Amino acid sequence: MANRYRIGLIDGDGIGPEIVPAAARVVEQALSGAGRSVDWVPLELGHTTIERYGTAIPEATLAALDDLALWILGPHDSAGYPSEHRAGLTPGGAIRKRYDLYANIRPALAHDGVRATNPDLDLVIVRENSEGLYADRNMARGTGEFMPTPDVALSVGVITRAATERIAVSAFELARSRRKHVTIVHKANVLSMTTGLFRDVCLEVAQRYPDVRVDDEHVDAMAAHLVRDGRRFDVVVTENLFGDILSDLAAELAGSLGIAASINTSATKAMAQAAHGAAPDIAGRGVANPVGIIGSAAMLIEWQALRTGDDALAVAAESIRSGISTALAAGIATADLGGTATTAGFTDAVLDILENPPPGTNLANEQ
Ligand code: ATP
Repeated sequence: MANRYRIGLIDGDGIGPEIVPAAARVVEQALSGAGRSVDWVPLELGHTTIERYGTAIPEATLAALDDLALWILGPHDSAGYPSEHRAGLTPGGAIRKRYDLYANIRPALAHDGVRATNPDLDLVIVRENSEGLYADRNMARGTGEFMPTPDVALSVGVITRAATERIAVSAFELARSRRKHVTIVHKANVLSMTTGLFRDVCLEVAQRYPDVRVDDEHVDAMAAHLVRDGRRFDVVVTENLFGDILSDLAAELAGSLGIAASINTSATKAMAQAAHGAAPDIAGRGVANPVGIIGSAAMLIEWQALRTGDDALAVAAESIRSGISTALAAGIATADLGGTATTAGFTDAVLDILENPPPGTNLANEQ
C-alpha cells in the first residue's frame, strides 16, 4: 500500500490562491494523522499564465496532469480573461473534456451552525459531465452551439446510451453506500428523445440494482420538490445542464454555494473543484470561505480510498469532514455565512480540531 500520494495543486484565479493552499494544509495534516503523506505538484493556470505564456492552460500543466490521478483545481475567472481567451472552453471545461471526467458528484449537505433554507438536506447530485445540453463540450470537434445568421442561434443537445449508462452506474453504486434511493431527473415530456433516452437507460441500469429504490422527476418539478421537501431525495442522477442548475439550487438550500464541495471523476482520475467561482469581488482580502474547496479535497481523498482500498485515506477524508462540521457547529464561519473568521482563521480552526479532536468527532488517529 502506498504511503505517499502525488496530488496536483492548481491555485487558479481570484480567491483560488487563498483557498487552495488552505485546503492543502488541511489535507496534509489529515493524511499525516492517518499515517500517509502527500507530494504536491504545483501547477499553473489562469490569469497568471495568460500574462506569462499567452494561454490560460499551459501545455506544461496538461502534460503534468496526464501523469497524475488526483488534483485540486482552484476556481478560474474565465469571464474576466481577455476576449481572445474567452472563445473556447473554460480551463475547467477543457480539463474535464481532455480526461473524460464524466461524473460530477455534488453533495448538498446542511451543517449545524449554518443557517439553511432546508436544514435537513442531505443529498448528492450525480451530474453527467461530458455531453447533454452543454454545447461547448458535447462535440468531438467544434461546438454544439452555432449561429447560421446573426439573428438565429441553435444549440444541439447530445445524449448517448454509453455516457448515460456509466453515469447511471456511478449513481446506483453511490446509492448503495447511502440511503439506497436514486431519482432520475429528465424532461422527457418535452425533450422526449434525448432526455427520454437518458431516463430509459437509467431505468435499465436500475434493474441491476434491485436493492435500490428508483423514481423519476421532470426537472421543473424537481426544482419545486427540492425547495418544498428536499430531504426526501438521496442520490439524484441527471444530465449536464440540469445537474449544473439543480446542484447550485441544492447547495443554496443547504446553506451556501461557498460550502458546496464537488469532484469530477473518470475511472482513473479525479479532480476536486469547489462548486463556486473565483469570486473576484472579494479576492485578495483573506475573507473567502475555504469550506467548499476543503470539502472537495476530502471527497478526492475518499475517491482514492475507494479506488485503492487504502482505508487510511478514508479515515483522513472523514477527519476532514468532521473538522469542517465541528468548526461550523462551533460558530466559526467566514463573512459569507455571517461570521467574522478569515480564510486563515477558519482553516486554523479546522487544523486545531484535527490536532486535538473533541471526543467522538475525529477519527484521524484510528486506523
Ligand atoms: P462562476 O460562473 O465561475 O461559477 P460566478 O460569477 O457564478 O462564478 P462566484 O465567483 O461563485 O460567481 O461568486 C458569486 C458570489 O458568491 C460573489 O459575490 C462571491 O463573492 C461569492 N462567493 C463565491 N465563492 C465564495 C467563497 N468561497 N467565499 C465567500 N464568498 C464567495
